Amino acid sequence: MAKTKRERAAYNREWRARNKAHLKAYEAERNKQIPSERREQKRRWYLKHREERRVYNKAYHARTREQRHAYDKARYDERHAYRLAYFRKLKRDVLAAYGGKCACCKETTLEFLSIDHINGDGATHRKVEKCGGGSPFYLWLKRHKYPKDNFQALCFNCNFAKHRYGQCPHQRVIGGEVGG
Ligand SMILES: [Zn+2]
Ligand SMILES: [Zn+2]
Repeated sequence: MAKTKRERAAYNREWRARNKAHLKAYEAERNKQIPSERREQKRRWYLKHREERRVYNKAYHARTREQRHAYDKARYDERHAYRLAYFRKLKRDVLAAYGGKCACCKETTLEFLSIDHINGDGATHRKVEKCGGGSPFYLWLKRHKYPKDNFQALCFNCNFAKHRYGQCPHQRVIGGEVGG
């Protein structure tokens, strides 16, 4: 498995400590190759051409602006598409784990489906678990292995009606008939 940033930093620290003498010798050798007057010369050149370099850098940035922006946009679009595909799949997986259809009206169109807190304590749950609605909530369900005790799939219509009226009209039965 890939190392985490922290593990890598710890490894590098340990490696440097182990190879201290070697690193010191290497550094000394390098400094021998760059005589101090050459370094001084370089520094003087940079100071002398400060204004020139400023103008050049500015022009360079202006010249490449479009190219950089196009590159940034392409990268942004790519990541956006990736994220979108990831969360679509996540939603598909989550809904599939909850039967893939509305528990009330049996609607199966993914775009119409949502996950309902059966006890109606969604707001509290979001606050306590800090998982928000939508994608973070789906991730939370996946991480908790799709708990079934308090969650079910409902379409937005049935979900809304249940919480707004206490019961979905689909469940209203009058004299053996589903009421209007
Ligand atoms: Zn429904
Ligand atoms: Zn319903």
